[in-house]
Amino acid sequence: MQNTSFNSKGMQTKAIHGGESPDKYSCASAPNIVMSSTFVVDEEVSFSANNMTEQTPFLYTRWANPTIQQLEQKLALLEYAEGCVAFASGMAATAAVLLSFLSQGDHLIISNTNYPGTAEFARDTLTRLGISVTPVDTSKTTKVSEAVQRNTRMIWLETPSNPLLKISDINAVAAICRQQNALLAVDSTFATPVATRPLELGADLVLHSLTKYLGGHGDAMGGAVCGAQPLMQRLRGEALVHYGGVISPFNAWLIMRGMATLPLRMRSHEENAFTVARFLAAHSSVEKVIYPGLESHPQHELAAQQMSNFSGMVSFRTGSASKVAERMMTELGVIHYAVSLGHHRSLVYLMQTRDLIDSSYRLDGEELKEYVDSAGEGIFRLSVGLEDADDLIHDLDKVL
Ligand SMILES: *Cc1c(COP(=O)(O)O)cnc(C)c1O
Repeated sequence: MQNTSFNSKGMQTKAIHGGESPDKYSCASAPNIVMSSTFVVDEEVSFSANNMTEQTPFLYTRWANPTIQQLEQKLALLEYAEGCVAFASGMAATAAVLLSFLSQGDHLIISNTNYPGTAEFARDTLTRLGISVTPVDTSKTTKVSEAVQRNTRMIWLETPSNPLLKISDINAVAAICRQQNALLAVDSTFATPVATRPLELGADLVLHSLTKYLGGHGDAMGGAVCGAQPLMQRLRGEALVHYGGVISPFNAWLIMRGMATLPLRMRSHEENAFTVARFLAAHSSVEKVIYPGLESHPQHELAAQQMSNFSGMVSFRTGSASKVAERMMTELGVIHYAVSLGHHRSLVYLMQTRDLIDSSYRLDGEELKEYVDSAGEGIFRLSVGLEDADDLIHDLDKVL
């Protein structure tokens, strides 16, 4: 069977064939799942993670595994990255990056509202280890440059961010990082490589919760980091082998199967999100709709520049949010009232402002006022799925 390089192929071809090739022995067209935790070795292989290279044969699945490697190669192709390391969850990938590339005495700049797990990890764990953290509104590039210190070693962006869907200018922040010799890490979970490719815009590391759009079906957890090979070597040697957050080959296989339809799904997610966002914007019970694709989004222009697909995340605000949430829990027929996002099933959840303030960086002063002005009692985060848009609208109309 031919061994094709998919580097120069289109997004859809990469998503389907990248990292895969027919099995050498059975000629099976679909990839096998290799569940083996260990591998029979016929030459001397060092089992120190420090001696591991790309050429090291498979030894033990916590180091590398054929099925996981296929997933990593597929994602690296989609992100135009030299390499990729997969982890057991998005948080395992996040912890791996923050702990592998920051040390005591270093300084991290991070968005003041982002995925709560990331926010709590930075605020509580990193500071306990002697790493200082400055949360800023990274959607304002000047705030990022003002926060830079002599010891700033990393800037962390999440764009679009959870749950207000603020957009950070990756290109502009990358310039600040280069000047400071700091790493730029971008959590691109909401965007996916179909919408934005942070490495091409100057980022050093791009992270995904594979549990979301990349897997796409809500049935497997995973995470991944892409970037240049030396950075990936470090992550694999230190974080994967020693912290041990390895993804199950079975989950890697499921996620890889989901990824084959990523470009198709993202087109449908976006189309449905536009329809639902326009319906919400016209609804009398809805006070505000946030969708980067709408001109009413305060950073629509930057979003249009940086995203070639506006993704399926729509946030909105209503009066009496807790009452609306209660109705959602009992009366929704299609949309699930549940956390998480990026699945083929639509999901909605009320992100209570008080919870986010507790779990984020304990905003105060002007930043708190700005958040509350925008979010009120809470923001409904709607992950628009792939059902018929009419059915989603009908469902929402019932509870609004
Ligand atoms: C879900 C999510 C994570 C964490 O991923 P898990 O796979 O749930 O561990 C990190 N960042 C963002 C933006 C997410 O949405």
